[in-house]
Amino acid sequence: MRTLSIIKADTGGWVGHSSVHPDQEAAAGRELRRAIESGLVDDAHVASCGDDLALIMSHRHGADAQVVHSFAWDVFRRTSAVADELGLHGGTRDDVVGAGRKRAGPHPAGADRAATDGADSDGADSDGVQSDGAESDGVRSHGVESHDVEPDDVTPDGELRGPGLGYAELEIGEERPSEPVLCFLTDQAQPGAWNYPLFRTFADPFTSSGLVVDPAMREGFVFEVYDLQENTAVELACPAETYDLLLYVGVPSRYVIHCVRSAATGVVAAATSTQRLSLIAGRSAGQDDPVMIVRAESGLPSVGEVLEPFAFPYSVAGGLRGAHRAPLMPVGLDDAHPTRSDGPPRVVCLGFQLTDGELIGPRDMFADPSFDRARSRAVEVMDYYRHHGPFEPHRLAPDPLRTTTTPAPDGRLASRWVPLTAADVRTPEALRKARQAREQAAQDHRAPGRPTEKEVSGP
Ligand code: MG
Repeated sequence: MRTLSIIKADTGGWVGHSSVHPDQEAAAGRELRRAIESGLVDDAHVASCGDDLALIMSHRHGADAQVVHSFAWDVFRRTSAVADELGLHGGTRDDVVGAGRKRAGPHPAGADRAATDGADSDGADSDGVQSDGAESDGVRSHGVESHDVEPDDVTPDGELRGPGLGYAELEIGEERPSEPVLCFLTDQAQPGAWNYPLFRTFADPFTSSGLVVDPAMREGFVFEVYDLQENTAVELACPAETYDLLLYVGVPSRYVIHCVRSAATGVVAAATSTQRLSLIAGRSAGQDDPVMIVRAESGLPSVGEVLEPFAFPYSVAGGLRGAHRAPLMPVGLDDAHPTRSDGPPRVVCLGFQLTDGELIGPRDMFADPSFDRARSRAVEVMDYYRHHGPFEPHRLAPDPLRTTTTPAPDGRLASRWVPLTAADVRTPEALRKARQAREQAAQDHRAPGRPTEKEVSGP
């Protein structure tokens, strides 16, 4: 059993939210090399998009393996320490480092232990493979189940969850002779950002002609969708339930595609991360910046069909302060550093051939001039959105799932709002009462010593 994991965290930005500092990537790279040498993982690669650092790992521990997640946690503690030394910008490193400071000494299942104990440590099965409760569908990622996590409850203890942390994992039962895998990273985007491209690749024959001409794809794909508000999940099979699927995934602020399977074989073709950081942290904790893994070819959509939806810079929630809507710009790794209004949101794709556990690559899949027009259009759309300033649709409508997009719950202002009904506006008496109520509220909350409007204007 082969597992591919992307585990990412925002452990401090350089400068502001725009990028990861090279010293952070170097620190993570050192830990990954140690993990490879110790046998903890078969291969690994460190990458970044914006201020998010991602660990891409091939291993045999299964999804949700404690030994892998604890290792990642420890790596992020180290990159957070680098951020501390350099005084890098916020993100969620305070949570990661803070949790680490609560413990005495290094994390018991961290990199130090991993480097010496190797793959057989920490409850591994007799064959050295630890499934650690992995679901039979081969995909697990933290999402709705983490909503009740409190800010002080972010220590892993076998589970990688907490503000700034996210992961997608895909179990590959049997490696095919050719195993192309695409690892997508974002910055300044929310979890539902994958709904649009996943639908187009796996359900839209105008994007993926393989759905029509490849007999292996003719039965279509099954989408597992999470309702982030109700903490529920549903499976919908396409093409039979295409319209039902669109009913939900067209609202990516609430419904998020968790994974996609082949209807014919059950093979998991795509897995996403589904964190809602604001809820996980119990407060605003930055961007969700989801990641995704997609397998391609040989009964699955081709690499080109997986990438094609990104030729349209579709609109995503996220952007500046996580409170805006903006186009998602596909870029090469060298351009994955959003600066203009902390945007536009970026997506990068690292392509690998997975061969005997080795990640052959990466290829920088969006470093292709055929995506130039998407980038140009993204800039135009960003101009359009930016001119709206604090108005919708650039500014996100209030979202009950997030705290960053709703008006501040200012008690002073809240008390000045008075009920207004149709009956109120029809009667002079109701209008007089409402005016009196507003004046009284203004007097109650005016600053000491500050004259009232009546005092200023005179009798
Ligand atoms: Mg970010």
